[in-house]
Amino acid sequence: MNYKITADQTHMREMNLSSVLHLIYSEAPLSRAQLAARTGLNKSTISSLVEDLLGRKLIHETGINSNGTGRPATLLEVNAKVGGVIGVELGVDFVSAVVTDFLGNVLQRKQISTDPAASQEKTLGLTLALVEDTIAEYGDMGLRILGLSFSIPGTVDLDKGVLIFAPNLNWHNVPFREIFYHSTGLKVFIENDANAAAIAEHLFGKAQHLKDFIFIFAGVGLGGGLYLNGQLYRGKGGYAGEIGHTSIIADPLQMPCHCGDLGCWETYVNQYSIIQRVQTRLDDRPSALISSLMDTQNSPITISIIKQAADAGDRSAIDALAEVGKAMGNGIAGLVNIFNPEMIILGGPITIAGDHLLPSIRKSVEKHGMQEIVMQTVIKISAFGPDASLIGAAAVVIDDILTNPTHVEKEVVAGKRLHPIAV
Ligand SMILES: [Zn+2]
Repeated sequence: MNYKITADQTHMREMNLSSVLHLIYSEAPLSRAQLAARTGLNKSTISSLVEDLLGRKLIHETGINSNGTGRPATLLEVNAKVGGVIGVELGVDFVSAVVTDFLGNVLQRKQISTDPAASQEKTLGLTLALVEDTIAEYGDMGLRILGLSFSIPGTVDLDKGVLIFAPNLNWHNVPFREIFYHSTGLKVFIENDANAAAIAEHLFGKAQHLKDFIFIFAGVGLGGGLYLNGQLYRGKGGYAGEIGHTSIIADPLQMPCHCGDLGCWETYVNQYSIIQRVQTRLDDRPSALISSLMDTQNSPITISIIKQAADAGDRSAIDALAEVGKAMGNGIAGLVNIFNPEMIILGGPITIAGDHLLPSIRKSVEKHGMQEIVMQTVIKISAFGPDASLIGAAAVVIDDILTNPTHVEKEVVAGKRLHPIAV
């Protein structure tokens, strides 16, 4: 027996299986004949691939197309209920967990607060408890879980499932896959927060069918997901997209960054910077509106309060947001000049105030970018707003299944966890 030919044939079949599932995922409903026309594969191959995907319950038949010319055809679409996907976002002062279906629709969401000054062990312990609670509640519905994924504000080793460095948490070398596989038995993924969000936008957000776009995740830090030429660009070591740690503003305005450098772009545009700019204005001229919002909500100044104040016409809030939009636009102009993207998508906590940021971002990009390139770029707020990287975590599992449909087994007892991997 020629093992090489067998291996090649198996590989080819898996690639075809993935192509057919991708097409159904992004363009359903489709008939078998349409799939054959779109892929160039013959009808019997398509029938066999479709049978395989039906057997894994990744797709189902959804009715008959009888309004065209020719024979009526059975249409296929993705089975959203094939199982649940758990996504976890590790923030600086919170951890969120979400369960989505196979189409990224949110079925369940939980969030806990964490203390940025607490030990890594304590925060990991709280995260583990949150994940176990989420699994228990979802498992009670008798549905299977397809995988668990973490969205991390920093650099990650995808293959080993290790967090390498998260500057704003000050965590180094945390073996997420090992820790969470041992406690849950699930297949565990880890991804940078902005990359995860970019994957979500491409699968079911604002960048569907786009080949070149950049996702900017803005919260405590600022990260980039570079989706170039139809693929997420990872760079040599997998760390590409750390746009927030680009030193773009000259002395004497440089501020210290958690990465250890001075004057990083993110220090001028992150959520602390917005709050600080409002605070400085309030020190000079107190705002009755902001004080009253803080009193009523029993809260310190937050992005949400600043947004509400700006909506009501508060000058300090409006001016601070415009200033941050300008600094954000400065950096985006550089990205637009370098990469000529079709779209820039902004997501993460600061997009709560997105309507107030966007006009000054656009103005600044137009001013500092090269006109002929800027004309080809649209700037939008993420479909998932502040939850972009949380939904992104779930998207990472879905993307893995679309690439490797055989990761979903054919015969699964309801409630059973799927496909654990060796670590
Ligand atoms: Zn930095």
